[in-house]
Amino acid sequence: MSTFEPAHSYPARQAPAAGTLAGLDERLIHCRACPRLVEWREEAARTKRRAFADWDYWGRPVPGFGPPDAAVALVGLAPAAHGANRTGRMFTGDRSGDFLYAALYDLGLANQPTATHRDDGLELRGVRITSPVHCAPPANRPTPEERDTCRPWLARELRLLRPTLRSAVVLGAFGWQAVMPALAEAGWAVSRPRPVFAHGARITLPAADGGAPLTLFGCYHVSQQNTFTGRLTPAMLREVLAAAAEAAGLPVPGPGPS
Ligand code: SF4
Repeated sequence: MSTFEPAHSYPARQAPAAGTLAGLDERLIHCRACPRLVEWREEAARTKRRAFADWDYWGRPVPGFGPPDAAVALVGLAPAAHGANRTGRMFTGDRSGDFLYAALYDLGLANQPTATHRDDGLELRGVRITSPVHCAPPANRPTPEERDTCRPWLARELRLLRPTLRSAVVLGAFGWQAVMPALAEAGWAVSRPRPVFAHGARITLPAADGGAPLTLFGCYHVSQQNTFTGRLTPAMLREVLAAAAEAAGLPVPGPGPS
């Protein structure tokens, strides 16, 4: 970051200037626009959880993960303090990720069912995972201001994915609300009033400029609060992911055991 550039305007200035996803990620990881989140992510990286005392925490914004020509986007909420904020990769190193990657593997959208660290060999097929807030928030709750400050990163990521992106799965109501203006900025027409989040929601957004439409799916978040209580089961998650993959033209196997 330039020493002359105020931290709070960094995303709005830097994200639109990125010409590739790799370039976007490189700019993103230097972002310090949200003072509360910068403090929290770095505090978590300093103090660590006892089980991860020997880890060198990432402690920075976590970029999206997956190929730059993905057909499906998966949009979560924000990194977990001792999960992605520790490992530096989306949904990597926590129970939410275990749940998500197992489902992606079942559908042939990941080459392995586990995600433990950045060099564990995990590869996604046709899917890119991202979030509307890229730094770990206290209590997993970003403020509306932090969500809005981070939006240029998501909007640019979706814009750069647009040539190949045909569907998106949004995990939870926070992500759903956050992604709508980002999708509009990226070139899709979002109706007003905006579509309401529901697990299993399926909406087609036409492109604002005559390009390919995007099929949007709602899914409960893979948080432990949902998966431990059975609100979201592996079968429910697989069903939404399979529909999104199919809508995007990715081959998926038939229904498996629940
Ligand atoms: S949450 Fe987003 S905008 Fe805020 S500091 Fe992190 S990367 Fe930057």
